Amino acid sequence: MSHLQGFVGIVTGGSRGIGASIVRELAQQGVHLVINYQCNADAAETLVQEVQEEFGVKALAVQADVSLESDAKRLVHTAKKSFNRLDILVNNAGITRDRTFKKLSVEDWNKVIEVNLNSVFYVTHSALPYLQESPQGRIVNISSIIGQAGGFGQTNYSAAKAGMIGFTKSLALELAKTAVTVNSICPGFIETDMLAYVPEEVREQIKSRIPQRRFGQPEEIAKAVSFLVKDGGYITGQSLNVNGGLYM
Ligand code: NAD
Repeated sequence: MSHLQGFVGIVTGGSRGIGASIVRELAQQGVHLVINYQCNADAAETLVQEVQEEFGVKALAVQADVSLESDAKRLVHTAKKSFNRLDILVNNAGITRDRTFKKLSVEDWNKVIEVNLNSVFYVTHSALPYLQESPQGRIVNISSIIGQAGGFGQTNYSAAKAGMIGFTKSLALELAKTAVTVNSICPGFIETDMLAYVPEEVREQIKSRIPQRRFGQPEEIAKAVSFLVKDGGYITGQSLNVNGGLYM
């Protein structure tokens, strides 16, 4: 039996893609889950049913736009009120609005920073007092290879994801004397809706540059989250690359 049995976690943007795989992986370890979603209530409720039936954990779907401070606060407080503890926070919600820099509008810039970076501040700020009450608090931020290596047409996304890495290191330093660890995961190219927007010929070009010659699966990111949460007590302030060797 996993020592995470009975722990409580929040996964932002948890109703599909990488977030949904993280929910399933943590549920398998016996973690009760708050599944945050922005729009798709049906997908979130279906996942709630699935993990409750399959893994016998409790789960709750909570609508919140985590780029809004008030929604982020409500999300965290709903989690605490419903489960009376909080041990794990996975900041996973993210969007892209790719445009080459000359065509990038202020709105494209702000939206990506708000959803991908400001949300991390809002949710973590509200959650931290509760995470500090946990015997082992865990914050895992889903950054990206694009925050490390850059990406064509992705100045906004790259800045936000690099910002998450800096945030992770600084907060890890501040919390190092406590039981809370803070780490980032930097996925390479993972087969989810986010990658589905990329035209087929560009996808093939990308694949040919990946040393392992394949895209990653959402479950492979979820396994990395589970490792950090379960066995990562002496790992803090790090970025764990899960990218098929594309960035070393
Ligand atoms: P996805 O588009 O399937 O999932 C993103 C999730 O975030 C969705 O559930 C969406 O509803 C949610 N979301 C977006 N804005 C939100 C908001 N304001 N409030 C609450 N939820 C919101 O894509 P994914 O690939 O599963 O992405 C998950 C994370 O992984 C993202 O942070 C993304 O940047 C990162 N990532 C993905 C890849 C990849 O190749 N797929 C690579 C590196 C990093």
